[in-house]
Amino acid sequence: HPAGPLLSLSGVTVRFGGITALSDVGLEVAPHRVTGLIGPNGAGKTTCFNVVCGFVRPDEGTMTWRGQTLANPPRAHELSGLGISRTLQGLGLFDRMTVLDNVMVGAERHARAGFFSTLFGLPRSSKEEKALRERAHAALADLGIAAHAGRLPGSLPYPLRKRVALARALVSDPDLLMLDEPASGLSNDEMAELGEIIRSVSTRAAVLLVEHHMDLVMSVCDHIVVLDFGKVIAAGPPERIQGDEAVQAAYLGEV
Ligand code: ATP
Repeated sequence: HPAGPLLSLSGVTVRFGGITALSDVGLEVAPHRVTGLIGPNGAGKTTCFNVVCGFVRPDEGTMTWRGQTLANPPRAHELSGLGISRTLQGLGLFDRMTVLDNVMVGAERHARAGFFSTLFGLPRSSKEEKALRERAHAALADLGIAAHAGRLPGSLPYPLRKRVALARALVSDPDLLMLDEPASGLSNDEMAELGEIIRSVSTRAAVLLVEHHMDLVMSVCDHIVVLDFGKVIAAGPPERIQGDEAVQAAYLGEV
């Protein structure tokens, strides 16, 4: 596709009753770049993430994907068909399915179809099944957790469960990976490893990262968008954002 942004939001406004959670938000996610979405508590990061994921319908504004304006933002089950994957704070792993089966759920182009065939044991051709299994294995291997393929997610420590969720998001080979606070609950070492994973993902996909940990954000992002009270107050490379007076002022109230 053309060299323009992969994803862009323009004039996005979201109101919850009397609260304006997002006000005239515009942002662009370039292919193969890590874009950070940051801001103090309540700034609107999750709402913005949820607009792109189709969980929240904007009251105003447009979303453009690969240069095409979407009449409606995608619905959650349409995301993988577009080439968008996400991980959520709650991970959303299926406790009674093995790690490998959890990843296979994400492996089909249409995640919902994958979910139903895995959950209800609907027939797939054995060739199809084998190919999916191999892709899921490869995704686990990429994240260093292939040895745990046959285990149940609940038997793994939290940081490894996070990797399972990441493998499931990556197995469909998305063009955009969206991560909502992936560093929460990780040690500093684990966070550094996550940073390396995110950088390596950016060689094959764009990443949109909502994250509170500034060290991680500043070290992995190519471009950062800062929200405060639902508005974009700054956007640019990490060096510029770090020195931005409006950004510093927005965060002062937080410390
Ligand atoms: P945090 O860093 O604390 O997760 P955030 O930047 O992700 O915050 P949002 O969760 O998007 O911010 O919230 C933005 C604003 O919208 C807040 O004032 C919040 O209280 C409000 N809000 C979010 N979701 C809803 C909802 N479903 N109903 C009503 N108000 C909401």
